[in-house]
Parts: sequence; structure tokens; C-alpha cells
Amino acid sequence: MSATVRVRFAPSPTGYLHIGGARTALFNWLFARHNSGIFILRIEDTDTTRSTDEYIEAIIEGMKWLNLDRDEGPYRQTARFDIYRSYVDRLLKEGNAYYCYCTPEELEQRRQEALALGRTPKYDGRCRNLIEPIPGRAAAVRFKMPQEGTIVLNDLIKGVIEFDNSVLEDMVILRSDGSPTYNFAVVVDDIDMKITHVIRGDDHVNNTPKQIHIYKAFGWQVPAFAHLPMILGSDKTRLSKRHGATSVMAYRDMGYLPEALVNYLVRLGWSYGDQEVFTREELIRRFSLESVGKSAAIFNPEKLLWLNSQYINKAGPEALSEMVIPFLVKEGIISGGRHLDMQWLSKAVLSLKERSRTLVELAQSLRYYLLDYVDIDPRAQEKFLKPENIKLLSELNEMLAGLAGFKAPEIEKIFVALAEKYSLKLGAIAQPARVAITGTTASPGIFEVMEIAGKDRVLKRLSRVIESSRQ
Ligand code: GLU
Repeated sequence: MSATVRVRFAPSPTGYLHIGGARTALFNWLFARHNSGIFILRIEDTDTTRSTDEYIEAIIEGMKWLNLDRDEGPYRQTARFDIYRSYVDRLLKEGNAYYCYCTPEELEQRRQEALALGRTPKYDGRCRNLIEPIPGRAAAVRFKMPQEGTIVLNDLIKGVIEFDNSVLEDMVILRSDGSPTYNFAVVVDDIDMKITHVIRGDDHVNNTPKQIHIYKAFGWQVPAFAHLPMILGSDKTRLSKRHGATSVMAYRDMGYLPEALVNYLVRLGWSYGDQEVFTREELIRRFSLESVGKSAAIFNPEKLLWLNSQYINKAGPEALSEMVIPFLVKEGIISGGRHLDMQWLSKAVLSLKERSRTLVELAQSLRYYLLDYVDIDPRAQEKFLKPENIKLLSELNEMLAGLAGFKAPEIEKIFVALAEKYSLKLGAIAQPARVAITGTTASPGIFEVMEIAGKDRVLKRLSRVIESSRQ
């Protein structure tokens, strides 16, 4: 039997969880779940000047929201310095690494000299064969890179890529302050955590040959690599804020459902025929690295919005009602402590979910069910609340006031009677009523809206429109 699949998501906490990071996390998670493997979260926080606890929390929160549960971690690289040190010692002992006493000033000077001669700067190996330490100088540790030949990366997505060893330099693996460098810590962790597949963004392709040499120096089996294609904006440049929100939590705040975002993210690089909408179980069942494309993925916010509307439409009204409450509070439609009749709210939500693309839109529409008064769109007011219509609304108001119940069919009968009396089309009354009651020209069926909003609110709104026209 083959070894258990072990994969990791290894973000550097120098920012919030963004679309690209979330896609990497998701592909690792799906790969682990598909193969009944282990999904690990590893925080790569060795760059202490840019890493913060706040970002670590934000990344964990983002993954939680997307429902990407982990089996191990979060491990933090800053808590593992002793482990890196012991791996460095082993390389030193076995002659695969050496102390380097060159000062930053010396290195910089040699770099400038190389540039002046038109050469690519590269460490010249000066300390490779030192026998004695240089007193009074702090030492870094460098890895002895092979200087000749080639190294082959057989990437599961990109195919075979060959690199020339001569372009690689003896890189620093441990700084003189005892902190490991990025490429070294990654390899030690991937060895130590028995990672079988490294799935990450293709901005790391050029690090991979260096990392493979380190694996080899330890005599460790090199894991499989899968470098995911870049995500670009619609103008084919690297995805950035210019293309819309890039932070995962911004999508939560804009009223996206996590399942919709997951569904969207998976299609950034992965495909299964023409299928666009997948349940999570389907994704787990169908996911494979073979179906990840080679070409860059284009981030398309309209498609994400479309997917979100699909998920909102599919969601049960009870679940949506729960989800929409924080948005009702944020929009100032209800106060935090208000007790809502959830059964009633579900009915209201059911009437609106087909026409809401986000939870924010849903909350905004719920305004006319929940508030006593709504603001009326001035253009709708001008067009539909003309004096002759106000007269009709007054009569409507009186007839509705006389109703014992307030169900859609009874309400409809009143409209029909009024339309017949004046030989009008139903719409000639329904549209002014819609504007008066919802403040807008588009809503679900007006009789249903009125039933759900309730007699009291409907009459209050009609009366206010009638009164304000008299002033
Ligand atoms: N910490 C790296 C990053 O955030 C990922 C390194 C890796 O996956 O090997 O880009």
C-alpha cells in the first residue's frame, strides 16, 4: 500500500487570506480529502518583520469560514528554530554545508563588481574551503550547491522542467542570528512533516531546484511537486486589488456564501468537463491534480456573483434566514438584540431568494418586510405616485382596512375589484401600490409581499404616501 498522502498549506502571515492563497489551501485540502490523507496548516512566519499574529488569526479565520478543516497544525516556523539548527548541524557534519564569514558589506561590494562586469551576481564560494574560523566575525551557514550538471523537476502540472546547476549559488541556510532562511525551513519542515505532495503557487517554481538539492543532501525522498498556474485579472495582469476585492473575508462581508466561493475557487485552474456547479462531496470525489490546467486562470468577479446567486437560490430559507441576520444588523434594518420570528423571516426570505445575488442584497430587500416605513426611490415616486394614483391608493387603503384577514388571495380580490370599477388594468394599481409599499419598482408578487409585510405596515405606508401628497 502506498504511503498516506500528507499535504500542507504553508502561508506566510504577511497579509490576510487572499484569493490565491485560498485556492492553494483548497487544492491541498481537496487532494487530502480525495486521498483520505492528512491536511496540515503550517505558518511560515520566519520573516518576523512582516509577519503578525493578527494575520495568522485572519488566515485561520478565513480557512474556518471556507470550511477547510485541518488534521494537523497550525505549526509555526518560529517555534521550530531548534529543529532547523539540528538539521543544519547534520549538513555541516556531513560536509554539505559550511560556515561563511563574509560580511554584508563585502558581499555587496562583490555584487556591485559582478554587475559592473555584466555578470549575474552569485556567491563566489570564498568560504567553502576555509579551515579556520575568522575571529570576531559572526558566521552564517551556507549550503554547498552542486556547481555542474542539471536538475530535473518532474512537476505534476507543468511537466518536466530542467534547471542548470551552474546558475545556483551556495545559498545561506542559517543567518548569523540563528534564523533559518525560507528555502531551507520549507525543506526541513516538509521532511520533518513527511509531506508527500507539495502543492503551491507557481511563483515557487524557481525555488524548487534549490530545495530538491537540499532533500538530496539529506538523502530524503523528494516529494511530488504540483505548481498551480497563476491567477490573473481580466486584463491578464497579476491579480491585485485593482481587479476587485482579493481578501477572502471581504467576500464574506459582501454577502457571499463560503460554498459559492469554494466552488468558484476550484474552477480557477481545475475543471471537470463543462460542469460549473459542484457540491463539496462531488469536488472531493472528482478532484485530481491531472485535471489542473497549465495555463493561467482568470479571475472573473461576475462569474463569482452568478455562482453566489445559484447558491443563494439553492439554500433553504431557514438556513438563509440565519445567515442574513448579521447583514440586517449591519445594514441598520434591525438592532442586534431584536427578537425575530424565524418562521416568518423564512417566508420573507423565500419570497426574495430567487432575486438576491448576495446576502447584502437579500438584507436590503428585507427592508420592506421589516421596517414600518421605507424610503421611496424618487424616480419611482415621480412616475407612479401621481395625484390620480394617490386617489386610487386612498381607496385601496380604505378597502384593505376593512379586510378581516390579510392573505394574498383576499388582497388580490380587492385589487381586482378596484381595477374593474375604474376599468383599469391590474398593473395600473399594482405598480403604484408596489412603489408605496416597497419603495421600488421591482419586488416579488405584490400580494405576497403585502401578506408577509402584514396589514399594519402596509396600511401605515399607504397612509404616509397619501398624507405626504397632500402637503
Ligand atoms: N510560504 C510560502 C508562501 O506563502 C509557501 C511556500 C510553499 O508552499 O512551499 O508563498
